Amino acid sequence: MKSEQKLNLKKNQEISLTIEDFTKEGEGLGKYQGFPFFVKDTVIGDEVRVSITKLKKNYGYARLVEIVTPSRDRVTPPCPVARQCGGCKLQQISYEKQLSFKKSLVEGCLMRIGGFGKEDIEQKMEPVYGMEEPWHYRNKAQFPFGRSRDGRIIAGFYAGRTHSIIETEDCLLGVRENSTILQCIREHMEQYKIEPYDEANHRGLVRHVLIRKGFRTGELMVCLVLNGEVKALTEADVLVERLRGLFGDGTAVTSISVSINREKTNVIMGSRIVNLFGPGYITDYIGNVKYRISPLSFYQVNPVQTEKLYSTALEYAELTGKETVWDLYCGIGTISLFLAQKAKQVYGVEIVPQAIEDARANARLNGMDNVSFFVGKAEEVLPEQYEKHQVYADVIVVDPPRKGCDTVCLDTIVKMGPKRVVYVSCDSATLARDVKYLGERGYQVEKVRCCDMFGHSTHVETVVKLERKN
Ligand code: SAH
Repeated sequence: MKSEQKLNLKKNQEISLTIEDFTKEGEGLGKYQGFPFFVKDTVIGDEVRVSITKLKKNYGYARLVEIVTPSRDRVTPPCPVARQCGGCKLQQISYEKQLSFKKSLVEGCLMRIGGFGKEDIEQKMEPVYGMEEPWHYRNKAQFPFGRSRDGRIIAGFYAGRTHSIIETEDCLLGVRENSTILQCIREHMEQYKIEPYDEANHRGLVRHVLIRKGFRTGELMVCLVLNGEVKALTEADVLVERLRGLFGDGTAVTSISVSINREKTNVIMGSRIVNLFGPGYITDYIGNVKYRISPLSFYQVNPVQTEKLYSTALEYAELTGKETVWDLYCGIGTISLFLAQKAKQVYGVEIVPQAIEDARANARLNGMDNVSFFVGKAEEVLPEQYEKHQVYADVIVVDPPRKGCDTVCLDTIVKMGPKRVVYVSCDSATLARDVKYLGERGYQVEKVRCCDMFGHSTHVETVVKLERKN
């Protein structure tokens, strides 16, 4: 590899590159006389002019200046602010290619970190579950309010890693109702001289609005985050009436609330919620399971793909109705309740107490009495239950955060010896590490399936089916 001194490269210098590879962060990789540069907003196969932004000893970063010859897989990003916003790192790549990129990312990790052979993995990988419609898939959005340079009230998104608001009321990932709701709130603010929040001096009232939609039920939630009490929101009743009157045809704003956040903080939601209209929650379904969603509760943002992901987990679990199943890292019990439809008994374990309260409420809501939940760390609850109470499992499902499973947790799974382990993962590197660990202790990978929950971003979810040998 050539060093940067020998090539005499300088910051701001313009060079030509061909993009040859892609990182898991979504940056293209091209080499200049063997010296690698990372370039955002590019596609494998692009021939580009770039300007050097940063030089390290053995690699550098550069900014796209001109696409000389576009890659065959390049498309024009439909969103006009895709580059400034930075929320969608892959919009310049055709959706089909995005899916194969994600699949190869997972395959790459399973080979490099997991130690699997190429043919072996290709045989085990099922086709990726992509979205039929990779737009307007998010059921939740949080828009900050502010003022434009010319003084208008605006709502939008923060530009990547900054706090300047890019005006985008109709983000293509969110539901179509977002812009109508934002416009209604903005007009109300203009009319009654309600100030948007200004971070710099901690003044102004309206910080954010949280909008959530139940895709199946058509119910919409609007929650205004205020730097002040409800009484500071002039003519709140008028705003409520306006929001309620916005839609029709099975879509309606059924929950309106305010979240009080008077802190100088980046955290969006305040912990205190004041209800203005409706029951304080909306309802939605994944498959046949019903969930109650309040402003602060966690809920998967892509319900259509979540159903596919959990159906895969359920399929891989091969339940007949007689099984005892553990669902580790269960969150609000989404997978647990899904499994409970086909299992004898499900036990969920989750570290956040509030999530377990929601999980129990959701179990009651669905009249399911074959699920129970434990609050605590998976690596503590499971060993304790196994050693003290000799609990048993036919199948164990795990859905850990990015850092993967703790080894104590994996060791306990091996000791309990379930017939199957279903591993749901949002990070292919720790997934590969953990299935390798289980593989060395008697669990063989049978099937792998990727599911695209976050189109146009680099994230990918994967489900793996492992079976105990001997
Ligand atoms: N399966 C859930 C969410 C999984 S996200 C769903 O589909 O909704 C991972 C979850 O693991 C989070 O809810 C997080 O709070 C929880 N968690 C993180 N570390 C944990 C640990 N050590 N033990 C148990 N749960 C943990």
